[in-house]
Amino acid sequence: MTPTTAPTPRQTALLAQLLATGLLIDSGVPGVYGRGAAFEEIRLAVDRLIDSVAAGDDAEALRFPPVLPRRHLETSGYLASFPHLAGTIFAFEGDEQDAAAQARDADAHARWDRHQQMTDVVLTPAACYPVYPAIAARGPLPPHGVCIDAGGAYVFRCEPSQDPARMQMFHQREIVRLGEPETVAAWRNVWRERCMTLLDDLGLEPATDVASDPFFGRQGRMLATSQRQQALKFEVSVAIAGDEPTAVASFNYHRDHFAERFGILAQTGGAVHTACLGFGLERITLGLLAAHGLDRGAWPPGVRLRLGLS
Ligand code: ZN
Repeated sequence: MTPTTAPTPRQTALLAQLLATGLLIDSGVPGVYGRGAAFEEIRLAVDRLIDSVAAGDDAEALRFPPVLPRRHLETSGYLASFPHLAGTIFAFEGDEQDAAAQARDADAHARWDRHQQMTDVVLTPAACYPVYPAIAARGPLPPHGVCIDAGGAYVFRCEPSQDPARMQMFHQREIVRLGEPETVAAWRNVWRERCMTLLDDLGLEPATDVASDPFFGRQGRMLATSQRQQALKFEVSVAIAGDEPTAVASFNYHRDHFAERFGILAQTGGAVHTACLGFGLERITLGLLAAHGLDRGAWPPGVRLRLGLS
């Protein structure tokens, strides 16, 4: 099981309140929750607000299921960097005798993985991952590149936690820019400022800083240091219930990593870089609930108005 840091008393208390009020619904597995109607209304309002801010990008909307072909995960290099977070999908393959043995094991809540075989799909780890092979398949990029709105897809990270902000399955609203290096880098910086304004308007007092991904192992620590030194990743954080503010959005400059891996070329023959931005919709929702209270009716009128909520 993935080691996780212990939740703070405030995180434990917030989770208990979220469950007691029905905003979240317990499943018995840490980090896997149902969403009550009141929670979902706020999450969808945040998603719509991002829609309105993103309108100027004129991004092409593509939608993908929350499973990814295993081959795409392999090509992306994800398993080298984040083997501890990946979720792979196995399924039964066997005869009637095997099926009966599996059913007996399952009835007893004993392990039944010995009856299972790896499938061709994995759980999507980040909403931008299906975008790269899809764009590569179209052929060389047009002169100004492309901007793809990948929507607010469910993504999976295997990191069970009692911190309500660290869910195993959550909605990540991602927008991806593919094109010339300068265009992509400038786009990412514009979006970081847009994000600060968006969250500030919601009364969340956002802060931004250089960040690194949770790379695995000793090699991973070196990758994280290099990522910080090159300022490839920025996060925007707000107070939820941790000792430190929690990242609710990230702005990632991949340089030529995905273009090389998936063979994305430019019509001009120049280099192709990619960047993505991801908003954690549940985390922004939790930030709003932590900042303004669990009763939406008592929120500041300006915040409700901005979100189009009554
Ligand atoms: Zn991404």
